[in-house]
Amino acid sequence: MHWPLLYKKVHSIHYLSRQTTPLTSHSFHAVETLVNMSVVFLIPFIIPLHISAYAIFTTLAVLNNVYGHSGYEFWPKSWVLKFPLNLLNLPSVHSWHHEKVNGNFGLYTTIWDRLFGTYKKPF
Ligand SMILES: [Zn+2]
Repeated sequence: MHWPLLYKKVHSIHYLSRQTTPLTSHSFHAVETLVNMSVVFLIPFIIPLHISAYAIFTTLAVLNNVYGHSGYEFWPKSWVLKFPLNLLNLPSVHSWHHEKVNGNFGLYTTIWDRLFGTYKKPF
């Protein structure tokens, strides 16, 4: 979604919220919503899993998304920068992403950002 054409036409709507709120977690262009939802609906056809596991996963994914966009860091700053919390895409990390856009792209963790050099300390 950060490929320049997609970002400008589709994903930039999500970044109208430079300061995130729980509502930001559901602020997307219709095309991006269709892409995201199609992945969610395809999972049961690709990965054999129990309906309760699917329900728990989707519920936790929504809650994690709302939490990540809450704009409120529940953990002390010194803890956020230390293992193991520094591996999670916590609200302070994702808030940095919304403010600066050019780093901290992770959805659930900071691992891929660390591997590809796009991880930025949130404070
Ligand atoms: Zn976001």
